Amino acid sequence: MDERKILLSEKEMPVAWYNVLPDLPEQLPPPLDPRTGKPVDPSVLAAIFPVSLLQQEMSVEPWIEIPEEIRQVYAMWRPTPLHRAVALEKYLKTPARIYFKNESVSPPGSHKPNTAVAQAYYNKKEGVKRLCTETGAGQWGSALSFACNLFGLECVVYMVKVSYQQKPYRRIMMQTWNAKIYPSPSDQTNYGRKLLKENPDNPGSLGIAISEAIEDTISGKDSKYSLGSVLNHVLLHQTVVGLETQKQLELIGEKADVLVGCVGGGSNFAGLVLPFVKDKIKGKSEVEIIGVEPTACPTMTKGPYRYDYGDTSGLTPLLKMLTLGHDFMPPGIHAGGLRYHGLAPIVSMLVDKKIVRAEAVAQTKAFEAAVIFARTEGFLPAPETSHAIRVVIDEAKKCAETGEEKCIVFNFSGHGHFDLASYDAYLAGKLQDYEYPEEKIRESLEKLPKIE
Ligand SMILES: *Cc1c(COP(=O)(O)O)cnc(C)c1O
Repeated sequence: MDERKILLSEKEMPVAWYNVLPDLPEQLPPPLDPRTGKPVDPSVLAAIFPVSLLQQEMSVEPWIEIPEEIRQVYAMWRPTPLHRAVALEKYLKTPARIYFKNESVSPPGSHKPNTAVAQAYYNKKEGVKRLCTETGAGQWGSALSFACNLFGLECVVYMVKVSYQQKPYRRIMMQTWNAKIYPSPSDQTNYGRKLLKENPDNPGSLGIAISEAIEDTISGKDSKYSLGSVLNHVLLHQTVVGLETQKQLELIGEKADVLVGCVGGGSNFAGLVLPFVKDKIKGKSEVEIIGVEPTACPTMTKGPYRYDYGDTSGLTPLLKMLTLGHDFMPPGIHAGGLRYHGLAPIVSMLVDKKIVRAEAVAQTKAFEAAVIFARTEGFLPAPETSHAIRVVIDEAKKCAETGEEKCIVFNFSGHGHFDLASYDAYLAGKLQDYEYPEEKIRESLEKLPKIE
């Protein structure tokens, strides 16, 4: 019998994260201060991030030790299983071998606690009492609530008001883990109060929630701010995913020919692929690496590689990345975690240098793949994850035509148990695709900061 599930013992969990920065083909362009156009002074960032995470953000050490306390928490659900999708292969009649790394087994149900736990740990160690963040659909908010609760930190989450009202279950999960959740715009900040005065029914947006979380952070309550994707240190923490996957493949004598992940800010994709990218940059591997985004928010396939703000309201330093422009508002697709105008600078460079390839998938096509997956492999994927599964299925079908026996590995970034309303819409035939919003993207790109 072929192995269906490749498991590692706790002792085989990685003891260091892999830092790709020193191995990149070029030095990563630094974050710039929008007022001066010069690299940001780290002391400015120290107001909102702890020193240890800022050091990791810029570190050129190839390996960064994972503290014992973090590994203890990781061991609640790590190492995660690598599954062989035998039933899906059979359904597709493909000679390809398909594997998925199951990050949905964490308590919050996605890869996000890999960094949330590390961030909570370093903040706690530096004497921080409270972490502030924003969340859209609630996946990041629940990961950080889980992590803060374990380390005895207060967690404050500004949740976009429409999601707060329409998606109560993630909110309840966060509250169960002791977090304080405010529908944003809220009465907690000057900015929120101003917006509510103008319009008490303001539905909120991620940009507004970020502004509120940052205002709260710097208002002097021993607080710091926390981000769930995009930044170098977030991608660093996620490399446990790829490092474990490498060991698991090695155990069964496999070598990945194709790696696939869905891409919002780029953290779960990077977590899987960065440890493999190292050999590809050095010319020692020809593995094909595919990042998958929604056609409604085509950052990688349509965005230029430029300096832009990381947030919608223009508060953050400028990052060089593939971007659709910071005030591009993507249509309300069901994969909330993939609706981001920009992309991690590290992943942006890898796409720009053609080390990784990008594909865009429409949401009905993603849900079609999700249902095939659920009916064969059983697990119900998050809408975000389903974008990766669509491309995996297409790649495996190509192998069925050519007879190629490729080894395809993808990151199963999360489960869809809180997204059943979206499944309901799909099954009822009510889900629609959005045209690639070319006009809106063009308008938004005209407002990019004038820095090359
Ligand atoms: C947040 C999320 C994503 C997208 O974020 P990345 O930083 O691109 O990984 C993808 N899948 C799931 C399940 C998520 O929760």
